[in-house]
Amino acid sequence: MKTDVFISGGGISGLMLGYSLARNGIDVLVVEKEAKSSIKYKGELLQPKSLEMMDRIELYDDVRKHGFPIHTTGITELSGDQVMKHITYRYSVVDHPFNAALMIPHETLKELIRQKAEQYEHFQYMQPAKFTGFKETGAIKKTAVVVGREREEVHVSADFFIGAEGRSSPIRNILGIELKETEYNHYFLTVTFPRPEYLTEGEMVVRDHYFLGLFPLPDLKVRTVLLIKKDEYKQMKRDGLESFYRCYTSLKPELDGYVQKVKSWKDIQLMIPTRHNADRYVGGNCALMGDAVHTVHPMAGEGMNLAIQDAYTLGELLSCMYETDNLEPGQLKLYEQVRKPRAEHLSKLSHTSALAYSYWQKPWRVIRAHVLKRIERVHTLHYKQMLNVSGLGIWKDTWVDRFVQIGLLPGFVLPKVKGQERLYTENDDHPWKKEEEE
Ligand SMILES: Cc1cc2nc3c(=O)[nH]c(=O)nc-3n(C[C@H](O)[C@H](O)[C@H](O)COP(=O)(O)OP(=O)(O)OC[C@H]3O[C@@H](n4cnc5c(N)ncnc54)[C@H](O)[C@@H]3O)c2cc1C
Repeated sequence: MKTDVFISGGGISGLMLGYSLARNGIDVLVVEKEAKSSIKYKGELLQPKSLEMMDRIELYDDVRKHGFPIHTTGITELSGDQVMKHITYRYSVVDHPFNAALMIPHETLKELIRQKAEQYEHFQYMQPAKFTGFKETGAIKKTAVVVGREREEVHVSADFFIGAEGRSSPIRNILGIELKETEYNHYFLTVTFPRPEYLTEGEMVVRDHYFLGLFPLPDLKVRTVLLIKKDEYKQMKRDGLESFYRCYTSLKPELDGYVQKVKSWKDIQLMIPTRHNADRYVGGNCALMGDAVHTVHPMAGEGMNLAIQDAYTLGELLSCMYETDNLEPGQLKLYEQVRKPRAEHLSKLSHTSALAYSYWQKPWRVIRAHVLKRIERVHTLHYKQMLNVSGLGIWKDTWVDRFVQIGLLPGFVLPKVKGQERLYTENDDHPWKKEEEE
């Protein structure tokens, strides 16, 4: 069998790249090993940068119809039953047409992209079909081996081979790409259930070591994540669902009557946060995307967005290579040059947010609440925070920022934000297009 681009993995990044190439007239085959998804919950929060990229490739209008917009995220730090601090972060501090996030069920999003892709004859999808290796051992690969539904072997020749297989990526292993891995001292429980009507923005409630995140979905549902200590899960299960309900209602009493709609532990998914980063994304005529090259702590809601943005960038680059008839594999490095620094920056940001909630002593919680409030109040800090989280640009924290955050320096020592500062431009997103024009 012959195609232009072979994609191993029909997760969010594989489908997005498949769609993006097929709409540009490039033959693409996506293979997905699972007959159906075994995991109930994955990323559901689309950050503004992902939405902007989806808009550029005519996906946004359909996605928006099935999503629920999030303009703000509130953080309530409790001390006992008292509110110690309430903080609100607003996407709108960044002056950009995409100044809100969007919640959409993960499988709905995948289905939507697959249906859009299938409108193009250049798109082929095999499921279940598992990539098992290459026929050659050299740097340039020509034929992928895929095992199909009836255990039959299919040999697929292609110009490029993309690993979009998530954490356990076989293509990454074949390329011998190393991962640096970090573990955390906590787990998350995650589940979706009906929500009260008034809950229309992102909310986080924090007390002692508990952290409850609430993100509204369409159809009056809410996706929730609860941070627990590692050793707490088994005890909670032994104590029964009542202990789970109690955690939720003690943090957010308004959820009484809603969280009880969760009727079985089977509906609650355990999420073990990890962080890993690959030292390279490309080898010969192969490239890797999404969780295959980076997983991030879920605290900042970035994992799925990194995967989507990788797919967009690689899709634009490959399309340009086919359009200009330049299929030199070395060109793939341009994808790594755009994506690796951005992914590493957001990985660090997610890691820092995770550390903020990894210590539970009172003085630490007081300092954390104080710092979060300073970020909300000092416009430049608020802007930087939301610019970075939204993915619309990059503006790294400095030592002066740190001093302002803890209140050792006043906010006015920071540079004033002038208009749409530090946003990524189209040139930043696809620098090869500029070279083409020149
Ligand atoms: C429980 C959970 C909650 C999460 N919550 C968030 C969140 O709130 N926000 C956020 O942004 N991110 C979140 N994430 C992370 C986000 O879902 C991932 O970063 C994103 O799904 C990565 O997409 P991907 O396409 O790289 O990989 P995946 O979604 O893992 O897809 C990889 C696909 O490849 C297939 N595959 C694997 N091996 C092969 C093979 N050999 N042949 C063929 N197919 C293969 C797999 O079956 C899978 O379908 C969460 C993840 C989990 C697990």
